Amino acid sequence: MLKYGVLGSGIGYTLSPKIHSIVFDKLGVNASYDVIDLPTDGLPSEIKRLKDEYDGFNVTKPFKTEIIKHLDEVKCSLGAVNTVRRENGTFVGYNTDVKGFYLSLTHMTGEIKGQSILVLGAGGASEAVISALVTAGADVSVNNRTTVKAVALADKYRIKVWNGEKPTVIINATSLGLDGISNPLPNGVDTSECKYAYDLIYKPSETPFMTFCKKAGAKVSNGLGMLVYQAILADEIFLGQSLDVDGLYEEIMKIIVE
Ligand code: NDP
Repeated sequence: MLKYGVLGSGIGYTLSPKIHSIVFDKLGVNASYDVIDLPTDGLPSEIKRLKDEYDGFNVTKPFKTEIIKHLDEVKCSLGAVNTVRRENGTFVGYNTDVKGFYLSLTHMTGEIKGQSILVLGAGGASEAVISALVTAGADVSVNNRTTVKAVALADKYRIKVWNGEKPTVIINATSLGLDGISNPLPNGVDTSECKYAYDLIYKPSETPFMTFCKKAGAKVSNGLGMLVYQAILADEIFLGQSLDVDGLYEEIMKIIVE
């Protein structure tokens, strides 16, 4: 039996076991998928056991960067890994958040080349989002509470720090809204031309950001689709085979969206 899991801290809520079990059942793969919930300082003492026991694992907060020093090879350009696979006795890191986000966003928007996209936030998830949007040819700007982090991302990806332009698409990659109350939109943002708003948060399923943008006339989505797509893409890596990504996505969404 193959053994996989998701490694993180404080992740008792995670939907990942459910999503991966649907994929494994569908494909007839004999595999388990655990929640590996460690204290925030627990990685150094646990990494050997994880490597001994697991064929691969997903990585989430707060270990996406810290895991890298424990890997033999990293096959992504971001400083963040969300998928680790044992390959001939070595451990190789990948990032499926970038493509997972892109597939989920464009599921709603279609082609995004040339769109004026405002990204809120400058943490790890924001970098995955910006990387995907820049690769797709969008006109991206970034806004963040801590300006120096927005400037660093803007320099790295050759995008703008937001300066009051009217966006046609807004992405919330901050954690504001997890409480069901806070809205991450910066003061003065003009949403009159905003056609689409995407929140990486998926719990609550409708955030204040989504409600606000919907009222302003935008089509909105939460981040559940990103979670599902990144998981299917991780399964392609774990199993070393191409999957019917969109077909699996539709089936999983039917099951997990109440
Ligand atoms: P980080 O901790 O790396 O970044 C958090 C971001 O939120 C930073 O930009 C931070 O700003 C901002 N922020 C936090 N609190 C406040 C506040 N009170 N006021 C203003 N800004 C604030 O987190 P991640 O980038 O890893 O995750 C961001 C969000 O994306 C989370 O909600 C996470 O659940 C979600 N996510 C969803 C995924 C999915 O599959 N749907 C995948 C990955 C993440 P500052 O820099 O100033 O601190």
